[in-house]
Amino acid sequence: MQEEPLKQLSFSSEIRTAINSKQWQLYYHPIMDIVSGEIYSVEALVHWVHPKQGMINPTEFIQLAEQCALIIEIGEWVLRTACKQAKQWLDIGIHLHIAVNLSAAQIQQEGFSDLVLDIIKETGVHPQQLELEITETILMNNLDIASEVLNKFHSKGISISIDDFGTGYSSLSYLKQFPISSLKIDRVFIKNIMTDKYDKNIVNSIICLAHGMGLKVIAEGVETLGQLNLLKNMSCDEIQGFLLSKPIDADNIISLVKAKKIVGLRLIS
Ligand code: C2E
Ligand code: MG
Ligand code: MG
Repeated sequence: MQEEPLKQLSFSSEIRTAINSKQWQLYYHPIMDIVSGEIYSVEALVHWVHPKQGMINPTEFIQLAEQCALIIEIGEWVLRTACKQAKQWLDIGIHLHIAVNLSAAQIQQEGFSDLVLDIIKETGVHPQQLELEITETILMNNLDIASEVLNKFHSKGISISIDDFGTGYSSLSYLKQFPISSLKIDRVFIKNIMTDKYDKNIVNSIICLAHGMGLKVIAEGVETLGQLNLLKNMSCDEIQGFLLSKPIDADNIISLVKAKKIVGLRLIS
């Protein structure tokens, strides 16, 4: 029983070392337009290149990094690296939007919106290329500060998405007041969409709700062509998931976009 806190303590000191020696790598997860089959954006997912354990997925360490407030430094590195990457792609003629996940601590950080605008200026990326993802829980728990920060981003042309929609709690009256451009439906609802009529109805209702509010809908965790076709029939706008690709590094994104591997998926329309 005493092992857990000790493990956490050594893990958090390892995260500190990782921050100092920048043991991070961004992987990018493509998002596809369901009608055109084109990839217009990718989501940056931070991975820990651990000297002994190898590549560690974000699910293994983000929560702990949030608990010990180290996410602020990691988050700044992620934002800067993702923006630099989007600019590099732009320079070789690949126009991609880049989505970056935000934590509550970042939104609450003093001067956060200025930091984001400085990073945009410094890296030369267009503000319109940047999309910031926050969960509904972060939004609802930080109403005042989120309103100020998100409105500032919106006025500069940066888009905001609500991540993992359906798993937290949202007040629709608040949701409609924020300058949000899209909802990402959590993959728990997509997983059994072919067999569970309740999940199918939930997803259909979220799509209608989002469209009624003028928002775009992205389905997360799409793994099969059946799910893709069903979502297309429901007028979902975009999909993300292992059907297209697992999260991959920057070079592989170039190959994927250039090879138009996704063409195979367009044939089903
Ligand atoms: P998320 O933003 O909702 O990212 C989606 C997660 O679902 C990713 O896991 C991705 O690999 C996984 N996923 C996507 N499609 C599929 C699919 O078809 N099937 C299955 N089984 N899984 C799929 P990952 O990379 O472990 O990321 C977990 C979470 O870590 C992310 O959830 C996000 O909340 C957080 N995260 C990642 N990078 C960052 C970051 O830079 N900053 C912050 N604050 N959080 C991050
Ligand atoms: Mg996300
Ligand atoms: Mg998500």
